[in-house]
Amino acid sequence: MTVRYEKVALIGLGLIASSMAHAMRAGGLATTIAGHAKTADTRATALEIGLCDTVHDTAAEAVRDADLVVLAVPVGAMGEIAAEIAPHLRAGATVTDVGSVKQAVIDAVAPHLPAGVHFIPGHPIAGTEYSGPRSGFATLFQNRWWLLTPLAQADLAAVAKLRAFLEQMGAKVDEMDAPHHDLVLAVTSHTPHLIAYTMVGVADDLRRVTDSEVIKYSAAGFRDFTRIAASDPTMWRDVFLTNKDATLEILGRFTEELFALQRAIRTGDGQHLFDYFTRTRAIRRGIIEAGQDTSAPDFGRGKAEGRA
Ligand code: NAP
Repeated sequence: MTVRYEKVALIGLGLIASSMAHAMRAGGLATTIAGHAKTADTRATALEIGLCDTVHDTAAEAVRDADLVVLAVPVGAMGEIAAEIAPHLRAGATVTDVGSVKQAVIDAVAPHLPAGVHFIPGHPIAGTEYSGPRSGFATLFQNRWWLLTPLAQADLAAVAKLRAFLEQMGAKVDEMDAPHHDLVLAVTSHTPHLIAYTMVGVADDLRRVTDSEVIKYSAAGFRDFTRIAASDPTMWRDVFLTNKDATLEILGRFTEELFALQRAIRTGDGQHLFDYFTRTRAIRRGIIEAGQDTSAPDFGRGKAEGRA
């Protein structure tokens, strides 16, 4: 039996929300989809491409009578939206979010929401470097993890319903607590993004010395970095400002390892380098065996999927 919500309100109409809209339509998971985004431009595009049944000038109007409200805005904007919509939420409604950081979203959103509304924070581990209402596609969540971080007092029936709904969009759903989520994502997503931003920045500085050679001869590794470093600046600024402690912890460990590798290069310790690269190669094999990527060569040119 299909688990569906009568009215879903999408607040923010970018990559994640538009992919949800396409997936909901493909699966018949909602009767009505209402939407709101900050700018008139995005709202007009959403109407033009038929992303939502109704598009509203305010978030408060969009959430009226909704059974499910999805906050799909940058993490730093979640609190102000929650404050705005709180008086307009229907009793018994579920509010979820798709933010890449969880504890900061809980701290910003939960205090505003009235009793009788079920707040179930979430994060789809799926994305591309594209953003905006035209960037979504129905299969974005297919076979990707969607992590839920329910609060201790969460309503089990509401969590089960949301879980079934997300699974019908193709996602694999798991639950964990918010601090654990933030540490795991600092390792698997946030710090790697920071490293990609840095590497592309370094290459850009170098480009000024070597003209266009960095671009012309860019190899697979660098192309992957440029793809990741093309991700939305607002989203990623907010991720680092709100997942500060976990990111700094992982960056500290990263720096120590980098120094050890630097030393091995300086001292000609080939064994250290070989052992290290053998260990990391095994991790790649593990990711492929877990079905989280394919072993096909890509060189950073294909459509990026599966990031967060
Ligand atoms: P996006 O494509 O950049 O879209 C963001 C949307 O939020 C836009 O429609 C924007 O409206 C709207 N918005 C921003 N501030 C707002 C405000 N104050 N009030 C109302 N609407 C506002 O972003 P996205 O990639 O879908 O990301 C959305 C969320 O998902 C973020 O929290 C991000 O951390 C998370 N996430 C992203 C990825 C990814 O890879 N992209 C993956 C997993 C989770 P305008 O267009 O009018 O400015």
